[in-house]
Amino acid sequence: MAERPYIVGNWKMNGTRAMLSEARAIDRAAQRYMKVEVALAPPYTLIHAVHREAEQIGIGAQDCHPGEEGAHTGDICATMLSDAGAKFVILGHSERRQDHGESNELINAKIESALEGGLRVILCCGETLDTRDAGEAESFVLGQLKASLPSIEDPAERLTIAYEPIWAIGTGRTATVDDVVAMHASIRRLLDETYGAETSAAVRILYGGSVKPENAREILSAPEVGGALVGGASLSAESFLGIVVAASEAEDA
Ligand code: PEP
Repeated sequence: MAERPYIVGNWKMNGTRAMLSEARAIDRAAQRYMKVEVALAPPYTLIHAVHREAEQIGIGAQDCHPGEEGAHTGDICATMLSDAGAKFVILGHSERRQDHGESNELINAKIESALEGGLRVILCCGETLDTRDAGEAESFVLGQLKASLPSIEDPAERLTIAYEPIWAIGTGRTATVDDVVAMHASIRRLLDETYGAETSAAVRILYGGSVKPENAREILSAPEVGGALVGGASLSAESFLGIVVAASEAEDA
């Protein structure tokens, strides 16, 4: 893998200023694991405060509006996120797709706008259990990506993909390593076709779905797994750092 493993915590709609001590603990400990790139996506309300605490880790957001500014009550655009200290944004998370009816086309518009605004993007994709059971997981996920990948020439450093089977998010179920490897290989082929193999090699493909310290090492050692997007286990420094340690050990192995 061309880049360091990327371990990203998604705090979702969790966290008040009382959580800043967890962010600080994650940041200070991350300084001991420089082979791993560590990042946190707190809720909007904490981005600036976590950014001020952070010496090492990257800070990002969980969504942004596709527009630049204007009459969009309750929305936040890429330049506002940058101004608050965000360096990246997670887009197309299944909870946004389900709760807010986000389409691939909208997600594509958000990605283009975020890149234009100077943010790196983590683009999420993943199938439901029904889709997997119907044998359509690969075509579904590749369809999501084809419809939402940005039309940039050099995605290296700017784009990360997160494969997150919906049935594995927050359920305690993880996909089998074989399933993850097969899906990541298919995603890699699509990235190669879209951007050229040399450029695509620097785009990391993360796995997300009930990653914990106990299962992280096995998942992170698998081919084409460039890191993890972590929900529940990122809410405590102890469990999140267990995943960072596993990533560092997998890198050394
Ligand atoms: C997520 O929502 O991106 C996620 C992977 O959540 P969890 O780790 O809790 O399954």
